[in-house]
Amino acid sequence: MDCIFCKIVKKEIPSKVVYEDEKVVAFHDINPQAPYHILVIPKKHLSTLLDLTEEDKDLIGHIYLVINRLAKDLGFAERGYRVVVNCKEEAGQTVFHLHFHLLAGRTMGWPPG
Ligand code: 5GP
Repeated sequence: MDCIFCKIVKKEIPSKVVYEDEKVVAFHDINPQAPYHILVIPKKHLSTLLDLTEEDKDLIGHIYLVINRLAKDLGFAERGYRVVVNCKEEAGQTVFHLHFHLLAGRTMGWPPG
């Protein structure tokens, strides 16, 4: 499958990994939109948030626990952070492998653009 994030999972293309375990990888976004911009992805290929099934419930819970752990380890848990999932084109999704944007290090605006 020609998926850029699957290639990052398989280390076929380089990325700046900040966390990895048997289920997920977290790495720096190549085009950061905040001082901290990390992508947390499941190793399993799921194209969009809509592709989740009952069997992915533990995986999604795990991803949020990894996000909280990163926030604490990287030092922005106290100030706050934002987690974003863009689902499909109209929401701005450009890479069709499910990913959670973890953004921090600046004041965020609302609503998002
Ligand atoms: P989306 O727009 O799909 O929600 O987010 C995709 C994100 O992946 C973008 O923020 C983009 O900068 C990032 N991205 C795209 N290609 C690569 C890559 O090859 N390496 C890394 N580290 N990030 C990428």
